[in-house]
Amino acid sequence: MTEPINVQQEQAIIIGAGPCGLSAALELQAVGIEPLLIEKNAVVHSIYQYPTYMNFFSTAERLEIGGIPFTSPNDKPSRREALQYYRDVALRRKLRIRAYEAATAIVPQPDGSFRVETADRFGGISVYATRFVIVATGYFDHPNMLGIPGEDLPKVTHFFGEAHPYTGMKVAIIGGNNSAVDAAMELLRVGADITVVYRGEEYSSSIKPWVRPLFEGSVKNGQIKMLFSSRVVGIGERTVTVQPEGENTAPYEIENDFVLALTGFRPERTLLTDAGAIVNAETTVPSFHPETMETNVPGLFIAGVIAAGREANEIFIESGRHHGNLIAQRIKELM
Ligand SMILES: Cc1cc2nc3c(=O)[nH]c(=O)nc-3n(C[C@H](O)[C@H](O)[C@H](O)COP(=O)(O)OP(=O)(O)OC[C@H]3O[C@@H](n4cnc5c(N)ncnc54)[C@H](O)[C@@H]3O)c2cc1C
Repeated sequence: MTEPINVQQEQAIIIGAGPCGLSAALELQAVGIEPLLIEKNAVVHSIYQYPTYMNFFSTAERLEIGGIPFTSPNDKPSRREALQYYRDVALRRKLRIRAYEAATAIVPQPDGSFRVETADRFGGISVYATRFVIVATGYFDHPNMLGIPGEDLPKVTHFFGEAHPYTGMKVAIIGGNNSAVDAAMELLRVGADITVVYRGEEYSSSIKPWVRPLFEGSVKNGQIKMLFSSRVVGIGERTVTVQPEGENTAPYEIENDFVLALTGFRPERTLLTDAGAIVNAETTVPSFHPETMETNVPGLFIAGVIAAGREANEIFIESGRHHGNLIAQRIKELM
């Protein structure tokens, strides 16, 4: 077969320029390797998709990468500050990022190296050859779908940006963790009629302790309707259908204008499994060495949330940012 296009040779390729991919890039720089990052959107796209006015639960210091100081006048930095920090780090350290280019395949070669195939926005295909690949693709692209009728209606979203579009509207929020609670508190300020539908029997223990009393207070005084032990089982144009748990409970409809389905995200692992990486069928955790982050495929590494199981919240920036150093030390040994 003839070579379709030029194959670009690289020392190491990082797929995903989220905080953990960037951290891995800085750690590789520190051991004398200039990796190429492939990013299908813009740098730190996941953070860009966070709620517009969100503050992190971590302090700025705990979000730092590559030992580069991140300071903020606030207790917890805002999304905007974090976007600026990670963007500046990428630009000032001259990280080589191929933005708006998606990795489509990692193909192991007989000599132990890899070919990484990518596609850009305009259908352009590129092929890279490298000895080391680090997959840091995160989880934010793949919301946990509810699998119910009406989920694809335009009034339904899995991403909450800001409250303004919901001014005075009847909004059903599905979920009971931080994203759902934060959205509900923001919607209060725009006069929305809010119903939170949550399958748990009581408030989630993961709600940020400084937010929980405010949320509980708003439920107690009737500003937010909280339906525990309940699921949305169908979405219509002007209604949602709620099914309470328990025997002999009938589903009922509530009037509704918009649905925020804030039920979390899950990492997508096809790139890894297609390259031969083993993923535990039950836990969905990829097989990797915890001291090096190397998978069962020699030279193929994982960094960040992609290393977590079904419960993606096991790994945060706070912890995933340390994966890069482990990877860089291992690659240095192998060079
Ligand atoms: C609302 C919210 C608040 C949070 N607050 C905190 C906090 O306070 N502290 C904390 O530590 N963590 C927090 N987290 C968690 C944190 O966002 C994640 O842990 C972090 O984003 C994981 O980083 P990552 O680099 O592994 O993945 P991501 O940040 O998800 O980055 C992955 C990147 O890979 C790219 N990508 C995906 N597939 C491909 C492909 N095929 N080809 C090329 N590129 C690809 C994506 O576009 C993305 O840019 C929060 C999460 C949310 C949703």
